[in-house]
Amino acid sequence: MSLNVGILSIQGDVQENAMSARTALDELGIDGNVTDVRTPEDIMNLDGLILPGGESTTIGQMSLVNGSMEVLKKKIEDGMPVLGICAGMIMLSKTANDRVVGKTDQPLLDILDIQLERNSFGRQRESFEADISIDPINIPSFNGVFIRAPSVSDVGSGVEVLSRFNGRIVAVRRGNVIGTAFHPELTDDTSIHKHFLELVNSSKSGRVAN
Ligand code: GLN
Repeated sequence: MSLNVGILSIQGDVQENAMSARTALDELGIDGNVTDVRTPEDIMNLDGLILPGGESTTIGQMSLVNGSMEVLKKKIEDGMPVLGICAGMIMLSKTANDRVVGKTDQPLLDILDIQLERNSFGRQRESFEADISIDPINIPSFNGVFIRAPSVSDVGSGVEVLSRFNGRIVAVRRGNVIGTAFHPELTDDTSIHKHFLELVNSSKSGRVAN
């Protein structure tokens, strides 16, 4: 059994995520392919998908235009595990407002019942690194790289908070859907990618991944 893992390659950190996922699969000894995906046809055959960071308004518009938005939503609702990173987590959310400009009416997948504040950490801290804990998935220490990162201002029922930084929620999970405000692909630590790929593996082999 070989896993088909996709990295949505519309915009953002595609290569870095592909490398982290490749390394993580090898470290876990799981057989799988990592490919860049873009079209509805590419997405249809996946066992798991990473939505990289970038600019969520652009990713949303382009996914809408090329028809991948609907397929993505359906696949995730049918149980395909997904890891949304920064703009990718914004894409998964139900509501996203920009800290400065407020409501932006951007296309969102509306998969995770969370409310997001885009660019949440303000100008003077647009990019920074911080040591964070992601205890619910057994990662006590992780170097979080935040780049014009969002934070989660509210979670709906069933959404688990995985991590907070300075009182703000920076990682969440609901079933097979994980979102992080920071960029795990920009560190050498593959533990988040490994956790995600184990989820993909158990979901493919029919075990309940939760
Ligand atoms: N600030 C970007 C947005 O709102 C996200 C930044 C990122 O993905 N690093 O879409």
